[in-house]
Amino acid sequence: MNAASLVREDLRDFAGYRSARSEAVQGDTWLNANESPWPNQADPGGRLRRYPSPQPDALRAALAGLYGVDPAQVLAGRGSDEAIDLLVRACCRPGDDAVVVSPPTFGMYAVCARLHGTRVVEVPLHEDGDAYALDIDALAAAALRERARLVFVCSPGNPTGHLVSLDDLERLSRMLRGCALVVVDEAYGEYTGAPSAATLLPRCENLAVLRTLSKAHALAAARVGCVLAAPDLVATLQRCQAPYPLPTPSVEAALAALQPEAHASTRAHVALTCVARDRLLARLRAAPQVLRAYGSRANFVLARLREPQACLERWLAAGIVVRDLRAAPGLQDALRIGVGTPEDNTRVLRLLAGGGGNA
Ligand SMILES: *Cc1c(COP(=O)(O)O)cnc(C)c1O
Repeated sequence: MNAASLVREDLRDFAGYRSARSEAVQGDTWLNANESPWPNQADPGGRLRRYPSPQPDALRAALAGLYGVDPAQVLAGRGSDEAIDLLVRACCRPGDDAVVVSPPTFGMYAVCARLHGTRVVEVPLHEDGDAYALDIDALAAAALRERARLVFVCSPGNPTGHLVSLDDLERLSRMLRGCALVVVDEAYGEYTGAPSAATLLPRCENLAVLRTLSKAHALAAARVGCVLAAPDLVATLQRCQAPYPLPTPSVEAALAALQPEAHASTRAHVALTCVARDRLLARLRAAPQVLRAYGSRANFVLARLREPQACLERWLAAGIVVRDLRAAPGLQDALRIGVGTPEDNTRVLRLLAGGGGNA
């Protein structure tokens, strides 16, 4: 049983598009991709003149080093959003098959599935004190019953902030071995201080982990993310990917961000954010306006408020925009508050209490 067998049967021998950059050949006069022989005047160094490598070796190596896996286990792409779409398209037959999601959760899993004509099966999270939790057995049972191909687990959860233990993820992957791929979205993994599900890859071939440079690495506009999975699954997914998914300026930004000095600064910002998050959480829990603030291992806090509309208006009047979740099932009084700078957080708390926005 190999991981690539989790891909749609009709795509298993699919070669995809052979781009001019797919062949690793040597040369100095490249006349095979119909590029201009002159640079654009707006691009004096000519670094944008040629099509980029589909998977630049340096980027793959840097991401593999960052996440503690082998380069052959990395498929880089345009954010984890592209990875989600790619997994749905590669693993689910259009008009058939199913994915399992656990609301409240990140909306893109269901969006990609719907666009692809794939059923979305929901196994809601349940509230466990002031945290949300995932029922692993219910999730596995639903996936098997519905013959789902993908099970999306967001950990830390967005918008809930809860963390799913590696033991639970390993158990889920075992229960679904040979039937479905467990996709662990770790967009906020840097803020957990806990080991990544990528450490399970050697034992769990039906597991894939999504990582991104958009959040903790502060490169959302560069659109760089990746899927970490077994090498044969990575190779199969790459054949389903667009020919040139990674613009050169984005690759350069990602490589620069992963140099030691920039990476150390990112880690310092993550540490600051975690301290600020815990302080924000404690203050929210102490505030009479807050009905419940959920424990969070990410860079935001989900809170239920007594008068969410009034709080939203006070914040908005001061220019502070939080995420309104009241339209989501079960979250009719909930807002998601991102952790900002210490000054931002102080203003959020002061306005919550009905005070002014300034210090
Ligand atoms: C923000 C977010 C993403 C999107 O990441 P990109 O790499 O920017 O596409 C994926 N998953 C979750 C849970 C997110 O919150």
